[in-house]
Amino acid sequence: MRISGYTYKADIYCPQCLADKLNLIEFDDIEHSLDHLALGRYDRFDESSFDSDSFPKVVFKIDLDSTDQCGVCGRYLKGVRYGIDYL
Ligand SMILES: [Zn+2]
Repeated sequence: MRISGYTYKADIYCPQCLADKLNLIEFDDIEHSLDHLALGRYDRFDESSFDSDSFPKVVFKIDLDSTDQCGVCGRYLKGVRYGIDYL
């Protein structure tokens, strides 16, 4: 499935804006960076175990409406080209 964005603290972020907000250096592999950040604190394989106020949750393309925009840069997330293929 394709990750188009993230929910975090009551907003939706495109991958780039989330990387900026969390100061993730390895934007090319944001999922890898998030895995590291969550290590020992949040179980990313069970997103119901934490709240999106505490740690970002993934938003898949299929879950978005065509009008959903990044809360920071305004980019339409459904059309995001640099979405990440998530196995
Ligand atoms: Zn953005």
